Amino acid sequence: MVAYFTEIFNGLLSLFIGMGITFKEFFKPTVTVAYPYETLTMCARYRGHIELVPDEEGNPKCVVCGLCEKACPSDCISLAGEKPEGGKKKELTKYNLDFTRCSLCGSCVESCSFGAIDFSKEYNLASTRKEDFIFNLLQRLEEKKK
Ligand code: SF4
Ligand code: SF4
Repeated sequence: MVAYFTEIFNGLLSLFIGMGITFKEFFKPTVTVAYPYETLTMCARYRGHIELVPDEEGNPKCVVCGLCEKACPSDCISLAGEKPEGGKKKELTKYNLDFTRCSLCGSCVESCSFGAIDFSKEYNLASTRKEDFIFNLLQRLEEKKK
């Protein structure tokens, strides 16, 4: 009989302790977000896949030196450029990133002395298809310009 009432007492005690914690937490500020309806702003140090940095006109800052491509230990970057007729400088015509191979090491960003690439804040990436992680960064930059 004593064991029976002890069990009931312990059960009620743990229930009230639990409800007390719930009640206390209820009035604290919310720390979770209702993803995907709400999203977080990533911190400055966050490393998403790399992206091209635009100049004031929205064109790539890249001078097609190829240093980032050479610096990448995983062969993720493939770029190309050509001199337009009558132009003095090469213009970027292709900048592809194979994000399936990228380790986010940062060698490419560090090697660029023109500030032409940086880490994006992109974290909404999910797919079962490998092809969805091959990014045409030049196209992405042009789409942002619109
Ligand atoms: S290192 Fe910078 S400027 Fe050179 S190709 Fe890469 S992104 Fe362009
Ligand atoms: S972060 Fe590293 S692995 Fe990824 S593209 Fe740049 S150099 Fe290559």
